[in-house]
Amino acid sequence: MSQFWSPFVNNLVPYVPGEQPKVTQLVKLNTNENPYGPSPKALAAMQAEIGDNLRLYPDPNCDQLKQAIAEYYQVPVSQVFVGNGSDEVLAHAFNAFFRQGKPLLFPDISYSFYPVYCGLYGIEPKPVALDEEFQINPEDYRQDNGGIIFPNPNAPTGCLLPLTAVEQILQANPQSVVLVDEAYIDFGGDSAVSLVAQYPNLLVCQTLSKSRSLAGLRVGLAIGQPELIEGLERIKNSFNSYPLDRAAIAGAAAAFADVEYFQQTCNKVIESREQVTEALLGLGFEVLPSAANFVFARHSSQDAAALAQGLREQNIIVRYFNQPRIDQFLRISIGTDTENAALIKGLQQLLS
Ligand SMILES: *Cc1c(COP(=O)(O)O)cnc(C)c1O
Repeated sequence: MSQFWSPFVNNLVPYVPGEQPKVTQLVKLNTNENPYGPSPKALAAMQAEIGDNLRLYPDPNCDQLKQAIAEYYQVPVSQVFVGNGSDEVLAHAFNAFFRQGKPLLFPDISYSFYPVYCGLYGIEPKPVALDEEFQINPEDYRQDNGGIIFPNPNAPTGCLLPLTAVEQILQANPQSVVLVDEAYIDFGGDSAVSLVAQYPNLLVCQTLSKSRSLAGLRVGLAIGQPELIEGLERIKNSFNSYPLDRAAIAGAAAAFADVEYFQQTCNKVIESREQVTEALLGLGFEVLPSAANFVFARHSSQDAAALAQGLREQNIIVRYFNQPRIDQFLRISIGTDTENAALIKGLQQLLS
């Protein structure tokens, strides 16, 4: 509280990002970063962009990047929006589409930024319970609403909703924007981008932070029909005309063009996820089926908070959520082979 803050600011409940410790030598499996570096071609493109031309503003429309994304997904450029991380794209979407005077539906266990944006934009949040298996049931999204948002695969569960079920939600809600937050889709799901041509109410959000290993660059995107994209552009051009700098535009475009590196690193993460899952099962964990670059696991007898603390004492950090329904789970990002081995060894020690 401060006398200088507006009543609105006094009432905000900001998001708390996962920890980014300053110490090195940690096995950092807490924020779902990619264990492999960005595409070497993306790095070269960024380095080439850093020079005298930084005195000039970047392209406010980010055409080069939009074209690279449009080419990758085989959609018209008019269906692509880009922003400073998908968090910013999501914020603009909340502002543009969800301030309808009706509640926004999202899973009770999902990305914790959604209720924060509801607070920022005066939207009533209406969490919808996942079923006992922690799955989204499309039938639960047949109720009056001013919009729907869910991550697919869901976070922090990692569970994937098949496209047929995404379509059921779209068909049941033709009057609402349905935002599918596909931060993790490249690790094992089919993107709903293939449905955009059929559904004017569908907006798909993605990020370069996870599967393209550029969390530090801050680039996100949305794909939807031009009516939705124009809504986002109206907000963006009323807020910040230059959300992406020159390095971000060049690097992100090159990352999208380097399909080979992208596929190689995604495949490696997927392979490691299956190995980590097997090892966790062997140690007595239940592991939810994951299509993401992390697993969500609970032990049959050991307390999750105690395990997270025990790992931390061995310099291994995983994410623990002290929240109803999931307070016995650990969310563990997939690391390099060495990091994954350290995790399993650390757990073996704690469980022996
Ligand atoms: C990581 C993540 C984001 C944010 O991505 P940025 O592009 O880094 O802002 C959005 N949604 C979900 C579900 C995420 O896990």
